[in-house]
Amino acid sequence: MEQARPPIITILGHVDHGKTTLLDYIRKTSVAAKEHGGITQHIGAYQITHNSKPITFIDTPGHAAFEKMRSRGAKVADIAILVVAADDGVMPQTSEAIKHIQEAKVPLVVAVNKIDLPGINIKVQMEKIKKQLSDRDVKLEEYGGDTPLVPISAKTGEGVDKLLETIELVAELHELKADPQAQVAGVVIEAMLDKFKGPVATILVRNGTLNKGDQIMLGGIKGKIRGMFDFNMKAITEAGPSTPVEILGLEAVPSVGAKLGEEPKEMEKAQVQSLVDKLKQGENKTLKLVIKADKQGSLEAIQAGLEKHNDERRVVEFKFLGTGDIVEDNVKLASSTGSIVIGFNIKVLPAAQKLADTDHVLIRTYLIIYELLEEMEEVIEGLIKVGQVEEVLGKAKIIAEFPHGKERIAGSRIVEGSIAKGQRIRVVREDTIIGETKLKSLRKVKEEVNKVEKGNDCGMLFEPQLDFQIGDTVESFRVI
Ligand code: GDP
Repeated sequence: MEQARPPIITILGHVDHGKTTLLDYIRKTSVAAKEHGGITQHIGAYQITHNSKPITFIDTPGHAAFEKMRSRGAKVADIAILVVAADDGVMPQTSEAIKHIQEAKVPLVVAVNKIDLPGINIKVQMEKIKKQLSDRDVKLEEYGGDTPLVPISAKTGEGVDKLLETIELVAELHELKADPQAQVAGVVIEAMLDKFKGPVATILVRNGTLNKGDQIMLGGIKGKIRGMFDFNMKAITEAGPSTPVEILGLEAVPSVGAKLGEEPKEMEKAQVQSLVDKLKQGENKTLKLVIKADKQGSLEAIQAGLEKHNDERRVVEFKFLGTGDIVEDNVKLASSTGSIVIGFNIKVLPAAQKLADTDHVLIRTYLIIYELLEEMEEVIEGLIKVGQVEEVLGKAKIIAEFPHGKERIAGSRIVEGSIAKGQRIRVVREDTIIGETKLKSLRKVKEEVNKVEKGNDCGMLFEPQLDFQIGDTVESFRVI
């Protein structure tokens, strides 16, 4: 039987307009967290009771998460609160948020925040903001539309109660219903890999009831719910509609926006497939990457996440790591080295995209690190499966050459691993493979040896002879 369910609220708006402060204020004043020892751990959402009615808040403000969910077809929020600072008015991210909300067709409540700020003329600012909103097709109640506007101060709390009442009214108007007995439906709003707990995901249950012990499929990832916690980290055994819960027991970390019961998306599979295909066509079977990220911290996290695949064999090679948008130079480098360009939380400049299109360079951008890692992991696994992954066993620099009858000996210094007779050998100049060959002779000082280790010099005679030159690199490798 369908019954009323609590509304799920998301808060959007320009940076520094007070989203976090508002979420904190509402949580502090309306959540009975002390019952559980006062520990309020962040799980990505919380529930309050206002006038004895529950309201669920998604605790991660920002468009990225909202857009991510929407792009995966996941409708999570029932109502969006658009926070606009009274002093600043509508700013670029406010406009962006309005666009997202309108496209997602989510009912909107405007909260004009920071009305406590001294030195602002509230009346003038209010009129300005209303005009800015109308210009962006937000139909305010005052002008006969259906969008309420509530002046608030997230700092002093003024107007927040009115805002919550308004939310209740909008929720009632939309008659939000769900059936606790129905097949369970839910969306991931946060997920991560915990060092101790393993994959952890916060799910917002949309319909039905999630029970501890349930076997689930979440965005293509299997799991059995080993543990379930409410937003106060209190262990629970069941979670009905509009309840945020943290669950343990998944086999891997799912993506934000992943749905309960969802198999891996066909589209995503196809994208990964084409990545693998592209690599298979290339000469070198390592995944070469040019990576651009918003900040150094993200870059390091991405590098560390990918580097771990190089434990046993070299599958990932970083051609460039840097911060900032993807520019033409990045694409040029990717084109000449056979790399893929990866962007995290950055833009692809139009000129760079154009060059990528003509040069057939693949650019992939992500907003969430573990989605990036997840997709790259699939590519790496794909490469391993097709037996196309190379392990470089040793590297040597050619530092001299000596004539030997009609042939030439490459005087080399081993700089990595070791090089041995019988291995597949190739000569590389910068990023170009000059050719593949074998060792006819390997000498350490004057003695013929089978293997030379890092730090030692040796003389190499190739068969077939290659047109090597001083400065080239000799690599020994095998295909796994
Ligand atoms: P967010 O980026 O939208 O999450 O913004 P924050 O919640 O971090 O707020 C940005 C700054 O504005 C912080 O310094 C807050 O203390 C301040 N702030 C937020 N709400 C109010 C308010 O209602 N009044 C005043 N005076 N300051 C506020």
